[in-house]
Amino acid sequence: MASKSPFGASEFVKGVQSGSISVLEHTSKICDEIEKKNRKFWHFNFFDSENALGQAQVLEKEIKRGRNGKLLGIPLSAKDCLCVKGMESRAGSKILSGYVPPFDAAAVEKCRKEGAIILGKTSQDEFGFGTFSVNHTAETIMGGKNLGVKIPLNPLDSERSCGGSSGGAAGFAALTENTHVALAESTGGSIACPASFCGAASITPTYGLVSRYGLMDYANSLDKIGAIGKSIPDVRLLLDVIAGRDARDSTSLESSGIALQDLKKIKIGVPKELMAEIENEKVKDAVLKKISSAEELGIETVEVSMPLNAKYGIEVYYLIAMAEASTNLAKYCGMRYGYSKKLEGNFNEYFSAVRSEAFGEEAKRRILLGTFARMSGFRAAYYLRAMKVRTKLISEFKSVFSKADLLAYPAMPMVAPKFREIEKLSPLEHYAADLCTVPPNVCGMPHATVNAGEVGGMPVGLMVVGNHLEDSKVLSLAAELEGLK
Ligand code: GLN
Repeated sequence: MASKSPFGASEFVKGVQSGSISVLEHTSKICDEIEKKNRKFWHFNFFDSENALGQAQVLEKEIKRGRNGKLLGIPLSAKDCLCVKGMESRAGSKILSGYVPPFDAAAVEKCRKEGAIILGKTSQDEFGFGTFSVNHTAETIMGGKNLGVKIPLNPLDSERSCGGSSGGAAGFAALTENTHVALAESTGGSIACPASFCGAASITPTYGLVSRYGLMDYANSLDKIGAIGKSIPDVRLLLDVIAGRDARDSTSLESSGIALQDLKKIKIGVPKELMAEIENEKVKDAVLKKISSAEELGIETVEVSMPLNAKYGIEVYYLIAMAEASTNLAKYCGMRYGYSKKLEGNFNEYFSAVRSEAFGEEAKRRILLGTFARMSGFRAAYYLRAMKVRTKLISEFKSVFSKADLLAYPAMPMVAPKFREIEKLSPLEHYAADLCTVPPNVCGMPHATVNAGEVGGMPVGLMVVGNHLEDSKVLSLAAELEGLK
């Protein structure tokens, strides 16, 4: 579905190592492509070809002196919520206008060490608050020019959304004709959703497998950095590079390496209550067809039951996510960095004026709802109860994994909607679209997505979910499914 790149990431790296691919030539090709296409699709909200070409020139010289790396010469885009040294980084929000980090996020740093070229920042919903990338308030800056606030458009139909919140990352991963991988982030589905809507491949790792150092937090107990690309082998390579313990993030975990394995005699579970909640029969059929094609590989399919995740996933997710987001956003006050105004009035007056002007409507809604959920008097009824139910949701996953090795079902209950359909959605209808992605996100389970055909010309995504730290197994099944035509 996504346009094919001439080389997968690993072949590309081999080409650079052997001298058959010039990093400078390839970087200049992809920069030209972005210069042209970004004015139509708006996948990047910060792009500067001089910066990318400068990195490529330095790298070429180093390669001549023997430099090597797992991502040698690979062009990489970073979701806007990841700090990139020297590039305006705003998490899709006007409140961070003008903020240029003096350091790289841990994931970005690891990619640079392995020889990646950082192209720019991809568009997203403000702080990740959304499913369609329409809650986007940061202006697009290309080559130093401010082009205003632009919403990323689906590369297959520009009247439709790329999904969100990592909309720009998935949109560009699907659109580009050149080798490229994208660093993205998911709190409740922001990697799986856009990948599925754009026909790209993705991996959202086990919570903690990738350091969150340098990530602009949405909700700390849920945020995960992962990868979007044209194929499962490409996202596997990127995850292998960024996974692992980092002393700067106490929740980060050791990685034993991410590799594709031969799957023998495995059972795939299809969760019946989640399937029953999906109204779009065509999306369900496409995914079930793809799952059953795995029987060719000797893989057995069983029906599993996860009533709690189907019933309470969305409620639990939005309570926890909003409660944590409302505390995370407290630090943006127009005093230290980002958006500011002429200092007038007392602190409260100034602080309120900045926040009223620079936060979008959805951020404000989440600050209010999240603060309410953790206020004394309501905390036990909402936030603490949601945390208790979360434990039950995790137990439900664990018990299902004693009956099936991996789960598979649609990533989204629909194909990418048109913008005019999105405009009609209430906030609650907007949140309900996350039905399939919130369970593994709330429970910290790794999940990958692959394309499972199309409905009405738009891609349908299939999601593979595994138990904690079974990222390699998840990717292995996803790769097998991807390979079946
Ligand atoms: N759509 C979900 C939300 O709005 C998930 C977003 C995300 O994963 N960042 O919270």
